[in-house]
Amino acid sequence: MRTFEDTYRHKGLRKRLVALLKEKGISDERVLEAINDIPRHYFLDSAFDEKAYEDKAFPIAVGQTISQPYTVAYQTQLLELKPFDKVLEIGTGSAYQASVLAEMGVQVFTIERQKALFEENKKFHYLKKYSNIKFFYGDGFAGLPTYAPFDKIIITAAAPFIPDKLIAQLKTGGKMVIPVGDGAVQRMLRLTKHADGSYSEEIFANFSFVPMLEGREGNGS
Ligand code: SAH
Repeated sequence: MRTFEDTYRHKGLRKRLVALLKEKGISDERVLEAINDIPRHYFLDSAFDEKAYEDKAFPIAVGQTISQPYTVAYQTQLLELKPFDKVLEIGTGSAYQASVLAEMGVQVFTIERQKALFEENKKFHYLKKYSNIKFFYGDGFAGLPTYAPFDKIIITAAAPFIPDKLIAQLKTGGKMVIPVGDGAVQRMLRLTKHADGSYSEEIFANFSFVPMLEGREGNGS
């Protein structure tokens, strides 16, 4: 069960979380503001209310996780969002990352391969406030060719390799933030696409994500 009440206590815990993220090196004020504004405890069962404001990943349904706030902030900062950017997210999960993006005023297209999570988000009332998020049940390796090209692409699961089909769906000058590696730890990369279709690569810190898997899971797959 989830409860949807945002008390002074929650707001206070959130301020502390934002201060911690600042200390850890997150400097994009718009990212910090979005995290300050979104009741992360709405995304967890009410039994874990206080856990929502620890800087930790947390289990959600079907063996998946809501990413650690620091990871969400880090990836979002690397995207260098501009107002009205078209952003593709792979791995909707709890939809917390998608909400942070939406709160920052970009257009979000998010794909989830687990039917159960996709269905859960359809019933999640809080998300109705974000008319700028479109939810898709599908395989992120294929992206969304119908809606391409995108200004930015964010992958929130551990990618075993850089998917060509996603590079193809980036605009020239567009950026992709992707954790790459198939072991326990992945390297965060930021790719920038050039006019000739090639891309350059910047390497950032190590993170640990649940794996990006091929195909869809659940009924109708
Ligand atoms: N962005 C999420 C993080 C969820 S964890 C959040 O804010 O909570 C990663 C998610 O990626 C999981 O829900 C997993 O089911 C999903 N996933 C893994 N491989 C995928 C793929 N190929 N396409 C779409 N989603 C995928």
